[in-house]
Amino acid sequence: MKHRSRIAIGNLPRIANLVVVQPQRNVSLVLNPSKSCRWASKRGPCKFCGFWNVGPAGQGMLFEDAIEQLRAGGTTGQVNLLTPGSFLDAAQISERNQERMVVDTWLELKPRTIRIESRPEHVSLERLGWLAGIIEGTRLEVAIGLETSDQEKRLGMGKGFTNADFENAVRLIKEAGAYPVTYLLTGFPEENATGEAAHRELVASAGYLEGLAGRVGTAMKIALECFFPNPNNPSEPAAYLTPAFVADAAMTIVERFGMRIEIATWDEGYGNHRLDAVKSVIDEFNETQDLSHLRRILL
Ligand code: SF4
Repeated sequence: MKHRSRIAIGNLPRIANLVVVQPQRNVSLVLNPSKSCRWASKRGPCKFCGFWNVGPAGQGMLFEDAIEQLRAGGTTGQVNLLTPGSFLDAAQISERNQERMVVDTWLELKPRTIRIESRPEHVSLERLGWLAGIIEGTRLEVAIGLETSDQEKRLGMGKGFTNADFENAVRLIKEAGAYPVTYLLTGFPEENATGEAAHRELVASAGYLEGLAGRVGTAMKIALECFFPNPNNPSEPAAYLTPAFVADAAMTIVERFGMRIEIATWDEGYGNHRLDAVKSVIDEFNETQDLSHLRRILL
C-alpha cells in the first residue's frame, strides 16, 4: 500500500540541497528560507561565511518531497536541518514552521538525532523545551558557531557574541533537555597562523568547551569546520590546512578530552575541499570515533 505522508503541504522553506552521507545515512537538508540570515542583513555577513544566503527564495525541493524521498530510502541516523542564520529565529522561520519541520521529520523518519542551528541570542528555554519534549526517543541537538574560544578573534570575524552569551545559550540548551554542539573553525585564510598555533588554538577551544560542559553538566560535541573558498570569501584556506593537520588535531582533542568530534568535509556545493581525498575515511571516523581511521591519514 502506498505510504500516505502525514505532512500537510504548505509553504515551508524549500530545500536548496539535500546531502546523504553513507554509511550511517547522516542527512543534511539545507533550508532556503524566504529571509536570509538576519545577522548578515543587519551587520553584514561574518568574514568567513558563504552560507548566509543560499539562493533566491522559493527555489529548491519541497520540504515534504525531501522527507518523503528520505523515508522511502530507509533508516536515517541523523537529520541536520541547516539554516543560513538561525533555525530558532522566529523572524526568519516562523515558530509554526519550526515546529512543523522538527515534528514532521521526527514523525516520518524517527532519526536518532535531529540537529538544528542557532545563534546564541535565539536560544529560548520555552521554545527549545517544547521541541525537545515532543520528539520522544529522538535527541535534539542545537549547533552554535562559536568558531573559537578566543573571544577577540571571534568578534573580529564579525560574529558579534561573547563567550558569556555562548555559555548562557549552552545552559539553556541543557535545561531544555536538548544537547549542544559547537562549531570550531580552522584554516581561516586571513589568520596567518602557523600550523602549530592553529593546533594550539583548537586544543585550547576544546579545553574551554570541556570545562564549560563540566560546569553545566552536559555532553558537548565539537563539529570541526575546515575553511573552504566560497563566493563571500574566495581566498584559499590557510596553507597549514591539510588532511594530516586536521587528523592530528582531532586525535589530540579526542585523546586529551574524550570529546566527540565530527569533521566536516562537505563544501556546501561551492567546489573542491582540501579534505575531499580523505572524505570516506573521515566519514567513518565521524560515525565511529575510532582513531585508527585518523591514523590511516597520518601514515
Ligand atoms: S556565520 Fe551565521 S550569523 Fe554569520 S553571516 Fe553566516 S549564517 Fe549569518
